Amino acid sequence: MTELTGLPDGVPEHLEDEGIEELYPPQAEAVERGVTEGESLVASVPTASGKTLIAELAMLAAVERGEKALYIVPLRALAGEKASAFERFERFGLSVGVSTGNYESDGERLANNDVIVATSEKVDSLVRNGAAWVDQLGCVVADEVHLVDDAHRGPTLEVTLAKLRARVDGLQTVALSATVGNADELASWLDAELVDSDWRPIELRTGVHYGQALHLDDGTTRELPVERGESQTAAIVRDTLHDDGSTLVFVNSRRNAEGAAKRLANVVAKELGDDQRVALAEIAEEIRAVSDTETSETLASAVERGAAFHHAGLAKEHRELVEEAFRDRLVRTVCATPTLAAGVNTPARRVVVRDWQRYDGDAGGMQPLDVLEVHQMFGRAGRPGLDPYGEAVLVTDDHDGLEGLFEKYIYADPEPVRSKLAAEPALRTHVLATVATGFATTRDDLLDFLDGTLYAEQTDEAGRLASVTDDVLAYLDANGFVERDGDGLRASETGHLVSRLYVDPMSAAEMIHGLREADDDTTPLGFYHLVSRTPDMYELYLRSGDRETYTELLYEREAEIPGSTPSEFSEGEFEDWLAALKTATLMEDWTEELDEERIAERYGVGPGDIRGKTETAEWLLGAAERLAGELDLDCVRAVRDARKRVDYGVREELLDLAGVRGVGRKRARRLYRAGVEDRSELRNADKATVLGALRGRRKTAESVLAAAGHPNPEMDAVTADPEAAP
Ligand code: ADP
Repeated sequence: MTELTGLPDGVPEHLEDEGIEELYPPQAEAVERGVTEGESLVASVPTASGKTLIAELAMLAAVERGEKALYIVPLRALAGEKASAFERFERFGLSVGVSTGNYESDGERLANNDVIVATSEKVDSLVRNGAAWVDQLGCVVADEVHLVDDAHRGPTLEVTLAKLRARVDGLQTVALSATVGNADELASWLDAELVDSDWRPIELRTGVHYGQALHLDDGTTRELPVERGESQTAAIVRDTLHDDGSTLVFVNSRRNAEGAAKRLANVVAKELGDDQRVALAEIAEEIRAVSDTETSETLASAVERGAAFHHAGLAKEHRELVEEAFRDRLVRTVCATPTLAAGVNTPARRVVVRDWQRYDGDAGGMQPLDVLEVHQMFGRAGRPGLDPYGEAVLVTDDHDGLEGLFEKYIYADPEPVRSKLAAEPALRTHVLATVATGFATTRDDLLDFLDGTLYAEQTDEAGRLASVTDDVLAYLDANGFVERDGDGLRASETGHLVSRLYVDPMSAAEMIHGLREADDDTTPLGFYHLVSRTPDMYELYLRSGDRETYTELLYEREAEIPGSTPSEFSEGEFEDWLAALKTATLMEDWTEELDEERIAERYGVGPGDIRGKTETAEWLLGAAERLAGELDLDCVRAVRDARKRVDYGVREELLDLAGVRGVGRKRARRLYRAGVEDRSELRNADKATVLGALRGRRKTAESVLAAAGHPNPEMDAVTADPEAAP
């Protein structure tokens, strides 16, 4: 590794200690092209071929030059994991900080770190809020840069990169990408050198399982029989086990990941020896110790039998336990969602892409996955140095589908990456932010800035960028977010707030309009409706029969909802209004303390969706509260209470109690039933009562009492009062 220069002393030796004895060819090429000398670079390389090291070398070199480095992660769930990985370089004098959490907070604390890890949303928000350390950046890394193609999150990544590059002269940009169809275009956008390679550290064989056989890309066919009553995936898992290998199965939803893990555990369990069973039981106990949720129990009982699931809804500790057990070859099958395909560094002998379609709300049905995404999953096949080769398999039970899958995923090249910035919500949000942060003070400035985006790079039509920008400016002006003075542009007070709150300006306009119309008749349901009808809330769909149900409910409760109901004759708008009502009643059920399982059943959603919806609602209600404050409206308090109720999932009388750390909605209700009605009563409560209400859990009772400020929370000699037991 003598070729490495410009790094802190000892780094090459340290890498060798980690087993990195020489650079992989794409890594060597990146170094040749100057990635350790501040040169910008796009690395379009297959999954698991060592992209992370390219970024690490660039960041280490930047820190050695006295600059800061920023690493943009694609998922919040990955920020912590990446940061812990970089912390191994702290012995060379650099410090690592992670920024996640609330959008507005913690900009200054980060100024002390050399390497900062954050999502693009977080970076965007920090830049909007004027974080000064941005000017000290020497290097920015965009991990999974092909995600600029994502309709929801891509534009933020794209604009964030453009903004950082416009703000910091000569900023080194290192963009890591899966293999895509147009890496050269990405490089040209970022004025970067390009490493575009198909190289993999281990041979990959691909194929499709159909009937009783595996059809491989080299034209050969291998028997792989499926037993009666068994799924194809189960047969593949069994076959891999007989060859002493492990399998990674990709499915299209969290629920399917859990279901598949449960079923495949039956296959794995038959093949386990006694030692393995003992070791797995220990891991299952560790999993249960992390939390006593249903997910935790489901995971533990699968792991006991040698299988597991892995998705972004898992606690970080759970994910780590699963990854480790898989690497240690104790868990032999992991069922994962594609969201984490990129993040999990858990190669397996075989990868099975069971679901190559996924439900897409925008498209209104099942849609095939992108080639790019499937290839990323394929990339997890084969453990370098351990397996002779990796094998990635798609599954179909349809003979006609066999050819199709070969055409679509095996022989096909990945799609080109296309900017999604021109989509309206994205452009509205980012144009307002660019003006609000003073990045652009005239229309020309704004156009200049937008010229640095991938969108501009990819738009040939002359004048198109200017005309969509003008439409957006007109909208922002009409809603009082931007003030125009000749050619000059300025954000209004409200516009500034909207930009900092990180909501779509159209959501803000809708909320402001509704908040102004709120009156004494407006109830929490009304506020839930208000936020549910904004474009920032992903509404529930109306199923058959819902139209009647919710139309009836609407006329019953119309007065509670601020704003005016659209006419039944304007089909689309009226439907949206009803869908928002359905979403709002879900929120109401949640705050009426209905069981999550009942809610899931009533609305046909998963528990994860309930959390997702209530989190979004809480965030939007927080924004509504701030807007109401800014506009001096009387409803501020009412909005705040509605927000807190969604946050805790409780009725009004529990707001105080549920706010005590460690209490939560269920425990608050039990305490309340036992006669402990608020925080101050909890502080002075009889310990036997509290212990009884908390089902005899001493640790919980102690920590809850301590959090409420009880002078002496120890439970040693206390016996639970059976009267207080729920
Ligand atoms: P990518 O980011 O391209 O998906 P990773 O950076 O996660 O891939 O690398 C995959 C694995 O390869 C990691 O476990 C990493 O430690 C290992 N690795 C990377 N570079 C080398 C190298 N030059 N020699 C040996 N192992 C390497």
